[in-house]
Amino acid sequence: MGEQTEIAVYEGSCQCGAVRFTARTRLEAPFQCNCSRCRRLNAVMHSVRGDDFTLLSGSEALKIYRFNSHTIAHQFCTQCGIQPFASGSDREGNTIHVINVHCLDEPRYDRNAVSHFNGSDF
Ligand SMILES: [Zn+2]
Repeated sequence: MGEQTEIAVYEGSCQCGAVRFTARTRLEAPFQCNCSRCRRLNAVMHSVRGDDFTLLSGSEALKIYRFNSHTIAHQFCTQCGIQPFASGSDREGNTIHVINVHCLDEPRYDRNAVSHFNGSDF
């Protein structure tokens, strides 16, 4: 499987670089979602616990977009329009950040490990 199965600190950003973040994770469970937003973004996402995510810069550049149940804060850069992550919570109420894997500086992941999440039914 290789290095994506190791816990590492990944750094990523939006396209223009205003928004930068780190995610401490094991990049083993990337997924694609077929909801009306992810389908358009064609994003590969990966969930990270709140404690393992750090926003380094760009909080002033981020804008939140919500739809459907409004439970997920889709965060995009108002300068370049790229969505580096979304934020929500799990069933226990813990903060979860869902990072856009393609926004990582080195987006290495096992394409065969990408699962499909049926978000269009939510
Ligand atoms: Zn940007």
